[in-house]
Order: sequence, then structure tokens, then C-alpha cells
Amino acid sequence: MVPFIHMNAQLLNSKAHDCVFCKIVSGIIKSDVIKETDGFIVIKDINAVSPLHLLIISKTHYDSIINTDEVFNGNELLQLIKVISQEFGIDSEGFRIVINTGPDGGQTVMHFHAHLMAGRSFSWPPG
Ligand code: 5GP
Ligand code: ZN
Repeated sequence: MVPFIHMNAQLLNSKAHDCVFCKIVSGIIKSDVIKETDGFIVIKDINAVSPLHLLIISKTHYDSIINTDEVFNGNELLQLIKVISQEFGIDSEGFRIVINTGPDGGQTVMHFHAHLMAGRSFSWPPG
């Protein structure tokens, strides 16, 4: 386990890095962590749009998928999605993964995260 964000507390508290997900990862903002791996934490979205709406948040701050580097473990993310789907029993009904990226993608929190939504059926194309 590497439960450490690549950033110190002073920087986390500074106005220069006012990132809500860094504060959640570091514990400055208390949150119920459902699951944790070396690189990610899983929490419930505060504004759920489906019966199950989880956020898979990278422990390291990347503004978005565009800024990820060779340390970012995409396979770990995919395996985590698979394990969550099995543990929550949504692997047979299915679910949707969304990684909003940038302004056109509708990203509102500039720290890499994937949405995992389940418990209802989703339409296509998205709005
Ligand atoms: P985005 O629009 O960037 O793809 O998604 C950001 C998500 O983070 C939104 O669905 C929003 O509801 C969620 N969110 C924002 N702030 C918080 C927070 O403090 N706690 C939790 N659990 N979710 C948050
Ligand atoms: Zn951050």
C-alpha cells in the first residue's frame, strides 16, 4: 500500500492548491472511504445521480486524464472497477463509467476521478 499523496500538508492547505479531492484523499475533509488501493480511493458522490454513484479518485493529484503520467496505473483502475462491480453485485445488470474531462467533458472538479454509476439504466447518447 502506498497511502500517500505526492504533496505535503502545507501545500494542501495553501490557496495555491485548493483541491477538494486532495483534501478528501489526505483526510483534511472527512469522508467515508468505501475502498482503497495503492493509487485510488472510492467514495460516494455527494450529489448522486443514480442509486449507486461512486467516485474513484486518484490519490495523486492530476488535473485530468490529460495530465496523467507513467506512474498512473490505468490497469489498477480497471481492476478496481471490476472488483467494485462484483462486490456491489452490479456486474450482471451493468453500470456506467464516466471520466468527464475538460470543459466539453463537463468536468467540474479538476482532480482525476472516474464516476461509477449503477442501479438504473442509462440512455445513449449522453446529454
Ligand atoms: P465531475 O463533474 O468533475 O466529473 O464530477 C465531480 C463530482 O464530484 C460531482 O458529481 C460532484 O457531485 C462530486 N463532488 C464534488 N464535491 C464533492 C465532495 O466534497 N464530496 C463528494 N463525495 N463528492 C463531491
Ligand atoms: Zn487534487
